[in-house]
Amino acid sequence: MIPYGRQHLDDDDINAVLDTLKSDWLTQGPAIPRFEEALAQYCGASFGIAVNSATSALHIACLSLGVGEGDIVWTSPNSFVASSNCALYCGASIDFVDIDLETGNMSVSALKVKLKQAKIDGAVPKVLIPVHFAGQPCDMEQIHALSESYGFHIIEDASHAVGAKYKDDYVGCGKYADICVFSFHPVKIITTMEGGMAMTNNAELAEKMRMLRSHGVTNDPTMMTEESHGPWYYQQVDLGFNYRMTDVEAALGLSQLKKLPSFLEKRNTLAQQYDELFSAHDNIVPLSQRSDVYSSYHLYVVQVLGIDNNKHAQLVSQLRAKGVFAHVHYIPIHLQPYYKTLGFSAGDFPNAERYYEQAITLPLFPDLTFQQIDYIVTTLHLCINNLQQ
Ligand SMILES: *Cc1c(COP(=O)(O)O)cnc(C)c1O
Repeated sequence: MIPYGRQHLDDDDINAVLDTLKSDWLTQGPAIPRFEEALAQYCGASFGIAVNSATSALHIACLSLGVGEGDIVWTSPNSFVASSNCALYCGASIDFVDIDLETGNMSVSALKVKLKQAKIDGAVPKVLIPVHFAGQPCDMEQIHALSESYGFHIIEDASHAVGAKYKDDYVGCGKYADICVFSFHPVKIITTMEGGMAMTNNAELAEKMRMLRSHGVTNDPTMMTEESHGPWYYQQVDLGFNYRMTDVEAALGLSQLKKLPSFLEKRNTLAQQYDELFSAHDNIVPLSQRSDVYSSYHLYVVQVLGIDNNKHAQLVSQLRAKGVFAHVHYIPIHLQPYYKTLGFSAGDFPNAERYYEQAITLPLFPDLTFQQIDYIVTTLHLCINNLQQ
């Protein structure tokens, strides 16, 4: 079976893990700041806060911006549930902004319309979480300009987009957002097994997130509210969590980071190969790419035009039966049963729903071969033809 995504680990990665296992520090040691500083430098951010998942990073990012009860957070319905769950963890309410069918990213025009109405209703969100779907950055210049005129914060969910570029800057540089979150789950671009990182240029937000990832506890005398009891002393000054990344994971992340440029090159080359093979077929439409971005191509997604729900399911089943583990990204978040209990229903975000009905994610990962891509494309055509008979 050809999986839809897969990590690439080499001997350097494995040795980095083994060396850390033999070292004095399994967690809370020196590999963490090394990984944080290396990734911050890579993407041009001042600070990186490593945590045990992107989900945790999104949670403490929201908390550090003061998200709480009575606040409103908006994100994209075409994402993994973690993009919106983070707001609910904080007691805030969540709403969605519909997407552009061509890119799967949050629609700036839909955002403009929704903001105009929200301003009239006194319900402008405190935080907007754009998601760089499949690795292609959203139109951050426009989204940032709207944040200035309406006064909301931005957390980029860049779980798909480590190493991607928007115009001349790496995603995570902090030019267009308060905080940017990466995921290092094995299907993502680089992996730490489980893991994530929040990037920011704001020292205060960085300090808050650092405390929140570790119980809200500080050893820093300048942060303390009472006199020290002695050299063992620490203070809990906020209600935090244990969201720490281990040193073993950070060492793996550091080693993986060295290969990030080559992973991205490979993903882009393979995506181009798919694009070329699909260019002759009107009914199979790859995501359109902006000319001013460099995608990290976490996913290779096509829309198969004119198929209904039933055929969509059959198509993915047939592909899997033929050894191609196709997937679908994403079931619109607002259609999840939990979100329906919050009051969302079918029809709320028509583009995300229409997109979902036709979308198929094909395998894409650094070790995928051109021969496999030929097989996948041929197999997809074959399955579509079978369905049409
Ligand atoms: C994978 C993913 C997450 C969650 O990442 P974890 O590291 O598994 O917590 C959040 N948002 C998006 C868009 C993702 O794809």
